[in-house]
This record gives sequence, structure tokens and C-alpha cells, in this order.
Amino acid sequence: MATTLQRQLDDAEATVERLKLQITQGPCIEAGHAWKFVGGKNAGCNDTCSCSVPVHVCEKCGDSDYGETDEASVIRDRCRLIYEHEEG
Ligand SMILES: [Zn+2]
Ligand SMILES: [Zn+2]
Repeated sequence: MATTLQRQLDDAEATVERLKLQITQGPCIEAGHAWKFVGGKNAGCNDTCSCSVPVHVCEKCGDSDYGETDEASVIRDRCRLIYEHEEG
């Protein structure tokens, strides 16, 4: 039965290699994105907005969050409050 065991081992090793690859290269849905800060972009909250929100790109899959992060939400909320306050 050595050949069967060998084949099972080969299958297991192939699975390990596949999982390692998935962890290092994605899918990031399972392992999570490896976000890297690449710069800021205008938040565009309103006409007078001059806020900059951080944009990140995943080092593994190249996906971008397009500045749609919790951090950006806080910046936009703060900007809106200031804007509404200035408008009266
Ligand atoms: Zn990713
Ligand atoms: Zn703004």
C-alpha cells in the first residue's frame, strides 16, 4: 500500500503548497489584505472640501481601497460638521 500512502502524501504536500500560495498571494478574502499606504486623494466631501484621505493598495493582490476606509469616514464626517457649521 506504499504507493497509496505516497500519493496521499503528494496530495497533502500539494495542498500545503497551495495554501501557502493563497496566504502569500491571496485570496485576501481568507488571509486578509496586506494594505500599503500609497498616498492621499481628495475626499470630495463638498464644494469647498480640501481634505485628503489615505489610499491603500494591497501588496499581495494589487487591490485598492480607493480611500474607502474607516479612517476616511472619520475625516469626511469631521469635514461635513465643519462645513455645516460654517454654513450656519
Ligand atoms: Zn489583497
Ligand atoms: Zn472634506
